[in-house]
Amino acid sequence: MNKHQLYAAPEGGCVESHGAGLDPAGLELDLVSTRAFLDAVVESIPHMVFVKDVLDGRFVLLNRAGEQLLGLKREDLIGKTDFDLFSPDDAERFRTADREVVASQKLVTIENEPLSTPDGTRSLRTQKVGVPDAHGNPRYLLGISEDVTERLKVEERNRHLSLHDILTDLPNRRSFEAALNHELMNRNRFSLLVLDLDGFKVINDTMGHRAGDDLLRQLSSRLSEVKGEHDFLARLGGDEFGVIHRAATKKSSTQLASRLISALTKPFEVEERLVSVGASLGIVLSPDFGNTPDNLTKRADLALYAAKAAHRGSHVFFEPAMEEKADTEHYLREELAFALKRSQLHIVYQPIVDTRSGRIVCCEALLRWTHPQLGPICPDDFIPVAEASGQIAAIGKWVLETACKEARNWPSDIRLAVNVSPRQFTGFGLAVMLARILERTKLAPSRLELEITESIFLTDSDENVRLLNQIKHLGVRIALDDFGTGYSSLAYLRKFSFDKLKIDKSFVSDLATSDCNLAIVRAIIGLGKSFSAVVTAEGVETEAEHARLLEEGCEQCQGHLFGRPVEAKLIREMLGHSRDRRAC
Ligand code: C2E
Ligand code: MG
Ligand code: MG
Repeated sequence: MNKHQLYAAPEGGCVESHGAGLDPAGLELDLVSTRAFLDAVVESIPHMVFVKDVLDGRFVLLNRAGEQLLGLKREDLIGKTDFDLFSPDDAERFRTADREVVASQKLVTIENEPLSTPDGTRSLRTQKVGVPDAHGNPRYLLGISEDVTERLKVEERNRHLSLHDILTDLPNRRSFEAALNHELMNRNRFSLLVLDLDGFKVINDTMGHRAGDDLLRQLSSRLSEVKGEHDFLARLGGDEFGVIHRAATKKSSTQLASRLISALTKPFEVEERLVSVGASLGIVLSPDFGNTPDNLTKRADLALYAAKAAHRGSHVFFEPAMEEKADTEHYLREELAFALKRSQLHIVYQPIVDTRSGRIVCCEALLRWTHPQLGPICPDDFIPVAEASGQIAAIGKWVLETACKEARNWPSDIRLAVNVSPRQFTGFGLAVMLARILERTKLAPSRLELEITESIFLTDSDENVRLLNQIKHLGVRIALDDFGTGYSSLAYLRKFSFDKLKIDKSFVSDLATSDCNLAIVRAIIGLGKSFSAVVTAEGVETEAEHARLLEEGCEQCQGHLFGRPVEAKLIREMLGHSRDRRAC
């Protein structure tokens, strides 16, 4: 056979034809040029083209792309069968397909047909069709195979990317939702766990996003290691992960939650530093407490909020009462929108005294809300609602303005303490607002004390320290409220120098009998002295507590023993409003 010839000379059949009455020389020329033309066409087809003899299964044609794909010269292939050339399994598969094509007399397409080649297994998209002889009987089998290996890889990669998180390679929210739907459609028993990292934002903000990414990758692989074989773990976004725990019981869900939380307790090495994060988990059992993707995710989130509020590193199961609480909060939020306008808010003032002399030195403004139907609502119930809804900005401004105006009625050596929510620390608006209020109310800035809580250092702490310094520049004092109950790091004490530390009332109660509380109170008083900050004990209720605080050198006290929060009129009387109102 000629080297450039694509196929073996057919023995009769469709390729050759002898028309009567034609000039043999001209016919010969025509045939030669037609054949050369077809050779060139077939040779140029970028996919493997092959022809087999139907009768004996021997190859009669292979083009150049076929040679390249199979890693075979056509002279080594032509005249051979699949069984001479390929593995028995492949050959058997090809032969079965060929028979089906011939029998069907139709074009057959075989998707993703595997083929072992010297370059490894390739995937082919093969189309086969029978070629009849002059009598219409199947004579040859024509096949065209496209190598789709690379295209499939790209498709597979795109599919993977669309279902996985790029950073951690865990399934993403979309896959999670699909897995959740699958469990629900099959009416399976499972639990849905939502895990949220505690303290991740601080690391991200202080060490940079690259470090944050590295941490997320490391902790994702730890979570993958401890999840059960049949559990579906996904990154839902940011620092939130979800797990579908299949065939769940409350006990097995608790065990999984504990494994997930404790997997993160060992510090991570990020950029040659050891960093720690924790995790809180909300869990909802299905079908017991939900059977739609919506109510399950909402309920797992409610349980997560409860876990976060309980204490870091805890897990909480959803209970219907949480939904009732959420409904109440929703109601409160709507009602709170009118509270200011309808004059339902007012401020009471609680004295803070000098521990030694018992003389009032300051009064703390405490907000009250009297709802027409619900009656009095305490700030611990509505302040978080106002914070979550953003209403705290307007309310906080009103409190500052009203309290500063009121303090103008007090003797000039009495300070005013006002609580400020971390949510009011957005941008530099607070400092500007304060300056305006002080100007309008003509209250001396040194008489105003803002009480903030440690949680302010959980978010954008550098920015907040700058803001605190701006406020301090106005001459306003800054007190740290509820000291010791929030953020467990004391590093922020180096970043900002507080004028006052307020010992949380939980450490003051039982002070006379609890050695533990005494040790904490003593330590805070020591810290205050070292940082030149006044220390105030909150929630002083008994003479015994007062005596102990005096002994320990705590400078100021606040609590029912010295006076409950009272209306403005009453505090004025207590302070003796006969003193000069204008002396500020
Ligand atoms: P806080 O700033 O730590 O205020 C002290 C809380 O302890 C007040 O509760 C006060 O009534 C209570 N208290 C005072 N002495 C005693 C005592 O001897 N024993 C006991 N058991 N409690 C005592 P209140 O008024 O319910 O306020 C609770 C919290 O609500 C405040 O804690 C503060 O964080 C927040 N809050 C109150 N008013 C405002 C406000 O205008 N703005 C903001 N952002 N938060 C406020
Ligand atoms: Mg306070
Ligand atoms: Mg407090």
